[in-house]
Amino acid sequence: MKQSKIPHRFYLTEDQMPKQWYNLRADMKEQPEPMLNPATGKPAQAEDLYPVFCEKLAKQEMDGKTRYIDIPEEVQEMYKIYRPSPLVRAYQLERALGTPAKIYYKFEGNNTSGSHKLNSAIAQAYYAKEEGLKGLTTETGAGQWGTALSEACAYFDIPLTVYMVKTSYEQKPFRKTIMQTFDADVIPSPSMTTNAGRAILETNPNTSGSLGCAISEAVEKAVTTEGHRYVLGSVLNQVLLHQSIIGLETKQAMELLGEYPDIVIGCAGGGSNLGGLIAPFMQDKLMGKADPEILAIEPVSCPSFTRGKYAYDFCDTGKITPMAKMYTLGCGFIPSADHAGGLRYHGMSPILSKLYHDGYMKAKSVAQTKVFEVANLFAKYETILPAPESAHAILGAVEEALRCKETGEEKTILFGLTGTGYFDMTAYASYKDGSMKDYIPTDEDLQKGFDALPQI
Ligand SMILES: *Cc1c(COP(=O)(O)O)cnc(C)c1O
Repeated sequence: MKQSKIPHRFYLTEDQMPKQWYNLRADMKEQPEPMLNPATGKPAQAEDLYPVFCEKLAKQEMDGKTRYIDIPEEVQEMYKIYRPSPLVRAYQLERALGTPAKIYYKFEGNNTSGSHKLNSAIAQAYYAKEEGLKGLTTETGAGQWGTALSEACAYFDIPLTVYMVKTSYEQKPFRKTIMQTFDADVIPSPSMTTNAGRAILETNPNTSGSLGCAISEAVEKAVTTEGHRYVLGSVLNQVLLHQSIIGLETKQAMELLGEYPDIVIGCAGGGSNLGGLIAPFMQDKLMGKADPEILAIEPVSCPSFTRGKYAYDFCDTGKITPMAKMYTLGCGFIPSADHAGGLRYHGMSPILSKLYHDGYMKAKSVAQTKVFEVANLFAKYETILPAPESAHAILGAVEEALRCKETGEEKTILFGLTGTGYFDMTAYASYKDGSMKDYIPTDEDLQKGFDALPQI
């Protein structure tokens, strides 16, 4: 039977866009372990989270039962500015690799933040507005989250303070400028504006900063400033919920094309894009309707899934956030300064951690020189300059496609192309001039992080 030719880029219509998010927890056989209140050591209740998070978001965080949650109209309206995002058939990449496999990717880089992070930023800014809050605080590493939230806060007219990891602040000054363009107040972290920042600077004045440390500062600022709350762009259950829009659109588009993936691949930092992309496919798997392989790709320099421990840990270096059970390298873990592109968080989404632990998905770690090699290849054939984070997923897909070339399997491969890499040219340059190094932490390096895990 002759198959009708699948378009290079496929878009749902606005009418076909999802009107509800999908909450994967509702279909999990066993729930992720509950968050613990660090003060009491007992499972945190939604009320425990109110000083830190908006009420609606705290409720979403704790809700393991409601399968579908309505996307507020205002959020749908802002989604329509840059969504639906295209599902792309990577014909040129397939040809370059000479693979019999079909490669699809969902491209989330078509907005100013250059990443999928806007999907959750909009939801979080909207609920803050609805609750009448006076301001939000957050942290940003590579800068995509801070930019996304700045866009969303500007749209809903809410003041925003962003603690930006100091290395990024210095290496990516234009990221800072974009956030300022959207009226955000950007502070390099660690800073003297919080107790957490001052304490870290006292013991380690030359620190380049870390995400965990920036989180501590942002949380402290929120809980000590009247009418302010903290928002986070990854890891949390609520963020995976909002990101389910990626997977829902993808699955629907593939259905309309008569396709279904044999394998779904995503890069994993805190797990939000991966959790969002795989959500409806994992649902099929949990319900026994289909059995796609699910694969997370992470850097060898920050290997939470592949070398981390499944244990309770703090979500931040300052140890003020609730504790979550997740794959973690220890909240004090800071990846080597040689590590170029994102995906540097010490922990992993508790939802994905549980699914991984229970054998529903696999993970693999890759070296960054390989990642940039494939990023260059992808840019040439697909004409999108990928974010280094996204290129981890590309590498996973390319390796799978090359395996199909050997075996002759005509697999359908789907991966998440989370964003663009225009602000990562220093890393691209160090790949080109050969100075980029691969750093693999030793067992002793990692042990330091594990030794500091809270004793639960
Ligand atoms: C933040 C980011 C990631 C990693 O975060 P997850 O929560 O693991 O999805 C991946 N790609 C891009 C472009 C990002 O901005």
